[in-house]
Amino acid sequence: MSFSLQSLIRKNIAALKPYSSARDEFSGEASVFLDANENSLGSPTIKWYNRYPDPHQKKLKAAISAVKNVPADQIFLGNGSDECIDILFRTFCEPGVDNVIVCPPTYGMYEVSAAINDVAVRKAPLTPNFQLDIVAIEKLVDSNTKIIWLCSPNNPSGNSLNRTDIETVLNNFNGIVVIDEAYINFSRQKSFIQELAEYPNLVILQTFSKAWGLAGLRLGMAFAQQPIIAIMDKVKPPYNINQLTQEIVTDALQEVGMVNDMIKEIVAMREALAKVFMQIPVVEKVYPSDANFLLVKVKNAQSVYNYLLTKGIVVRDRSNVILCNECLRITIGTEQENTLLVDALAAIE
Ligand SMILES: *Cc1c(COP(=O)(O)O)cnc(C)c1O
Repeated sequence: MSFSLQSLIRKNIAALKPYSSARDEFSGEASVFLDANENSLGSPTIKWYNRYPDPHQKKLKAAISAVKNVPADQIFLGNGSDECIDILFRTFCEPGVDNVIVCPPTYGMYEVSAAINDVAVRKAPLTPNFQLDIVAIEKLVDSNTKIIWLCSPNNPSGNSLNRTDIETVLNNFNGIVVIDEAYINFSRQKSFIQELAEYPNLVILQTFSKAWGLAGLRLGMAFAQQPIIAIMDKVKPPYNINQLTQEIVTDALQEVGMVNDMIKEIVAMREALAKVFMQIPVVEKVYPSDANFLLVKVKNAQSVYNYLLTKGIVVRDRSNVILCNECLRITIGTEQENTLLVDALAAIE
């Protein structure tokens, strides 16, 4: 494989001289900070947030590095994974010229972010059992294909992609391969995060929004070899991770045990719920899941969706999505919420 990062990066980004913040230009010890035009008197809150946050998120990255066993210089942080996705487009894809490949049914943001950045999307649909169609992917690649987006476990199907197929893509494509592992904590499959040294073209996305229970704080992670991280750092807004998020997530990273307990509980409820669903007349099929949701085929997805709404229960109607005819995507709730859902579904004729 002949991978050349330099030839993948947009020319204007390769040449970009990044914004140098006040906190970049002075990083020594001082006690009087008159360099950033902040309000030196304080904040109208109990705790003060009058100072700009660390643009490099050093403490937070050190805490993530310890938990994920990845060097801090191979970590990029975004305001949610959604910002990481956008920054990957802006770093590698020339608007109106380059293209990317997605494998539907999958996470909708890859396509939306492509459209915002005026980047063409080529589609290699998954096979009927939601695995990669390697031949279809290979046929779509041309010299302007910059990124292949993979999602494993996949949203909305819930399954993991075959590891050997992902390796085939990583080994044969000279562009960037993104593996979105938003749901990896709920999976039986191993993350690719310990394989970063093997693949100079690999970017892994993870998030604090799912297993970590911190969706409201907006923190997403990208892991890659250091040269990719360095170029993403140039493109990001200087203060993209706010002070409160940096502090709270740094503390939360001390609670791996509590998170693992929640993951175990959610996985156990997912397996139990799948069994119960299969006894319900309106349910036609429950797809195997490695995530914190189940894809469920029902007799008439739209009417089931509307009926559940009348009971105050919102699920995600995916019935208009390719390969997901008559399917609802249902997040695992609390024990009580799951019971309400099962009772409502069971009451349908
Ligand atoms: C939920 C989800 C994310 C998370 O996005 P955030 O912006 O980090 O909240 C990323 N990818 C997939 C596939 C998801 O389902």
